[in-house]
Amino acid sequence: MRKKHLKIKKSDKVIVLAGKEVGKIGTVLKVDSEKGRVVVEKLNMIKRHSKPSAKTGQGGIVEKEGPLNISNVMIVCDKCTEPTRVGKRVLEDGSKVRICRKCGEPMDR
Ligand SMILES: [Zn+2]
Repeated sequence: MRKKHLKIKKSDKVIVLAGKEVGKIGTVLKVDSEKGRVVVEKLNMIKRHSKPSAKTGQGGIVEKEGPLNISNVMIVCDKCTEPTRVGKRVLEDGSKVRICRKCGEPMDR
């Protein structure tokens, strides 16, 4: 059985650990749990050629965020602003929250 334990969620802040954007921080726009990829705002921009449209008769180049491998990013804590591992805490009502392993603060708003 493959573990699908995704700790990164949309609108989390992440830091890039590998590749050309290493060290940069951005906000997660999209998580693709099937492929294990995330799309991070303004990071890993790729150029795409758009087809010429019937109206203007010309194509163009659009820049778009490319997906990053989820193992190449690490979540950044809002509270202590450190890249951190994510822990879990079960609240009194039985619900689970993600917590920062560095400062112990909950990461879910
Ligand atoms: Zn923290």
